[in-house]
Amino acid sequence: MGFNVAIDGPAGAGKSTIAKKIAKKMNYIYVDTGAMYRAMALFLLRNHVEPTDDKAVSEKCREADITLRHEQGEQVVLLNGENVNGLIRTEEVGNMASYSSPNPDVREKMVELQRQLAKNADVIMDGRDIGTCVLPDADVKVYLTASSAVRAKRRYDELTAKGEACDLSVIEADIIERDHRDMTRELSPLKQAEDAVLVDSSDMTIDEVVDTIIALCK
Ligand code: C5P
Repeated sequence: MGFNVAIDGPAGAGKSTIAKKIAKKMNYIYVDTGAMYRAMALFLLRNHVEPTDDKAVSEKCREADITLRHEQGEQVVLLNGENVNGLIRTEEVGNMASYSSPNPDVREKMVELQRQLAKNADVIMDGRDIGTCVLPDADVKVYLTASSAVRAKRRYDELTAKGEACDLSVIEADIIERDHRDMTRELSPLKQAEDAVLVDSSDMTIDEVVDTIIALCK
């Protein structure tokens, strides 16, 4: 049994940035479960599946084989053998993911793979339902959040740095809408596990958050 760290929280809370740093320092394998749901969303978008057509999502998702590989500490997501890392970080794919992720057939597939990954390795896994559903016995559970204004500003800076034109108020509205979908869905909604530690990063630096969580791991 590996040492398992679960980090859940809303969009843009800094989960992946923080988890990557902790993985490096503590020699854990970082598993970004959002990337798996994003790869599935990309597959559905490519196949012109309507986000709200649950039946079509259920049928089509069977044709998507999603696997993870780790190269030099970086997670690579493979969609039917194709490396899609460079294609899944858009708002379009993120939004599609939050429509398709409530589907039970999609979740079943992803959760099974996630549990398999955590079984034999020391992992830090981030997502929405890791502490509540995927790894209920995780050694450390964190619910990482920040105000929607702060989260929107971080996304905005990230996109602007990549040269993507974007509008801060549109991003904040998108984030609020996505959180609402993730928190109110029937299956594995985003919520703080009873035994998770709440970390609000609104007024914390990245290093402060990293140190706080590493202290919990020790
Ligand atoms: O974290 P990220 O923004 O990459 O996640 C994209 C979407 O995937 C989320 O909005 C959520 O709907 C879904 N997701 C999920 N369960 C997870 C991780 C992500 O439902 N464990």
